[in-house]
Amino acid sequence: MNILVVGGVAAGTKVAAKLKRDNYDHKVKILTKGKDISFAGCGLPYYIGNVIEKKENLIVNTPENFSKLTGVEVLTEVEVTKVNPKEKTVEALDLRTNETFSYSYDKLVIATGADPIKPPIEGIGLPRVFFIKTPEDAVKLREAIQAGEIKRAIVAGGGFIGIEVAENLKAQGVEEYKIIDASLSPNIKGAPYVDTSNVNDELTGIDKNDKLLLVCNKGKRAYMLQKRLRNLGYINTLVLESGTTFNQVEVGAAANV
Ligand SMILES: Cc1cc2nc3c(=O)[nH]c(=O)nc-3n(C[C@H](O)[C@H](O)[C@H](O)COP(=O)(O)OP(=O)(O)OC[C@H]3O[C@@H](n4cnc5c(N)ncnc54)[C@H](O)[C@@H]3O)c2cc1C
Repeated sequence: MNILVVGGVAAGTKVAAKLKRDNYDHKVKILTKGKDISFAGCGLPYYIGNVIEKKENLIVNTPENFSKLTGVEVLTEVEVTKVNPKEKTVEALDLRTNETFSYSYDKLVIATGADPIKPPIEGIGLPRVFFIKTPEDAVKLREAIQAGEIKRAIVAGGGFIGIEVAENLKAQGVEEYKIIDASLSPNIKGAPYVDTSNVNDELTGIDKNDKLLLVCNKGKRAYMLQKRLRNLGYINTLVLESGTTFNQVEVGAAANV
């Protein structure tokens, strides 16, 4: 059987490998848009923070290794642009050459994952706006930090990825915004923890002119902290909360369909 798998990171590679393991006679081909397959998304924030030093350590398997190991054919930098279910073919664009090819299949697996939402706000395409999804994204951001181009940062989106990225930006010295952890159980290494139930006076080590990013898994505590701090004269605060909207725009991920 001729099986095409579109998308080659976690889901695509696992499906393809399993199909070959079940029946080595299946012809299984992965078509994927990115340069890398099977990378460790969870390591990207730590690459930014230089905890993971080498990009190679983010890559679980190269296309060549994966092919050798499993017998699956892998084509990278190939974007599927159209599915023709009646003819059982897909059209795909080779992103290196800009040529379009057609691939036939008996069975089609779509494992195209999700990409960060790019909210339609002015300036979203500027070079200093970064999205963190692939190893190349993390490489680009770390290079900009190490070139001294980034002194202060706003992380839009305070789910676990936003928090890990904020923590690692801080580790790289990007901290004109001081990150204050307002969660019930503090989880940002190195960030001052502020217990919202206990803010009655000025905070030690924090100046009233500091720009403060109040980070919390559920926004309520951070907003409470913001209110208390404002009353004490700390007026330059921003709240970063989980599943957040930033300047009224949605951030997060959207499925690739
Ligand atoms: C910064 C970060 C940190 C994370 N940390 C963790 C963690 O700690 N723990 C955890 O469990 N998960 C974590 N994740 C999530 C994890 O990486 C994802 O759940 C996982 O990558 C999803 O795999 P997937 O194969 O479904 O989709 P994806 O990883 O999105 O892969 C889909 C692939 O399909 C390709 N594609 C899309 N459209 C097309 C098309 N038309 N044609 C060809 N190819 C296409 C894409 O380019 C991509 O390569 C993290 C993710 C990120 C970004």
